[in-house]
Amino acid sequence: MASFSVRFLGCKVSYSDAQEIRERLLGDGHHQTQEGADVAVVNACCVTHEAVRKSRHAAARAARTHSRVFVTGCGANLAGDGFAGLPQNVTVVRGRSEETPDLVADAVGPIGCVQADARIDRVRAFVRVQDGCSFSCSFCVVPLVRGASRSRPATAVLAEIRRRTNQGHREIVLTGINLGCYRDREAGYTLARLLREAGKLPGVSRLRLSSIEVNHVSAELVTAMRETPTVSRHLHVPLQSGDDTILRGMSRRYTAGTFLRRIEHAEGFNLTSDVIVGFPGEDGAAFERTLGVVARAGITKVHVFPYSPRPGTRTQTDDTVPADVKKERGARLREASRAACLAHWRAKLGREDIVLVDRPGRGYGDDYSPWLVKGSPGELVHARARAVTEEGILAA
Ligand code: SF4
Repeated sequence: MASFSVRFLGCKVSYSDAQEIRERLLGDGHHQTQEGADVAVVNACCVTHEAVRKSRHAAARAARTHSRVFVTGCGANLAGDGFAGLPQNVTVVRGRSEETPDLVADAVGPIGCVQADARIDRVRAFVRVQDGCSFSCSFCVVPLVRGASRSRPATAVLAEIRRRTNQGHREIVLTGINLGCYRDREAGYTLARLLREAGKLPGVSRLRLSSIEVNHVSAELVTAMRETPTVSRHLHVPLQSGDDTILRGMSRRYTAGTFLRRIEHAEGFNLTSDVIVGFPGEDGAAFERTLGVVARAGITKVHVFPYSPRPGTRTQTDDTVPADVKKERGARLREASRAACLAHWRAKLGREDIVLVDRPGRGYGDDYSPWLVKGSPGELVHARARAVTEEGILAA
């Protein structure tokens, strides 16, 4: 039996990659431990230059304390030599996400089937329903490292959700690289139908979508979310820029106007987003337009990404905005996001919400706003908003 540790860097899809490798190794009878393991798995991210640097650092450090290290995930599939020059005991496992658990398990070696307790997070489970992407945003490396869009059969997704709730998970987060592309044509499932059925499964207290492109924010989807009581009133919809010339340069499939019209479907939902600052050609006026769209859309939290050219993409040789300008714009956007977030929380003062506790003293409300609340992990607590702190809403 081998002992192993698993670490992931990046998004929720990377998390579910790591989860699947971990469950395969546990299923093969290996033992997970954080300290002194034989084998380390590092599920690497490559969405930005910084993400590759951190993933490489994690692999190098693991190589000093483990006899074997396997680098998996998007970072492993990145063209070029992102992981070249690492110690001999590091293996880069290239392959599609569906194949990687087998590739790692075969390399570690089976010893027979012992079913260990497979839960990573006690309350929340990330269930991948779709992978890859067939959009081709000019800056994005994801289609190159994860392949074209593909969907899991609805029966497999619903079966996994039942397994997760049987394991005691109360919140299910449906994840994918381009979630809105989900289709099980054979069984006649769209994302809206899948969401309706998943949300009614026994044991599901809360269902959430990881993120969705604005092109897929439709009346059909939002109606399904409104009509399924367990579904969180939250949507994470990447904007990337509020300037139409920049959006064209990014090959995004909408204008700022389309974005604003489409999210009208989700009125009353808590909207969060991603924005890239410093994309080639972004001048001061373009950035002001981005700030304007973020404000008009009522986005309450922005994940800010300083643009970095990615190998193999159409903009791999373009990087015209100076680093200090990216930094200054990033700081302004984060400050605008912080102010919008606090205003959103303050608007709840005196009102009630149902909070799913996910850690001692902490949880998330129906619209994925963070709360400071008493209760045990997995508990649904009725809470009234008494005050607002930088960390969340304080329950009475
Ligand atoms: S939609 Fe665009 S940014 Fe998102 S994964 Fe696909 S190519 Fe990348």
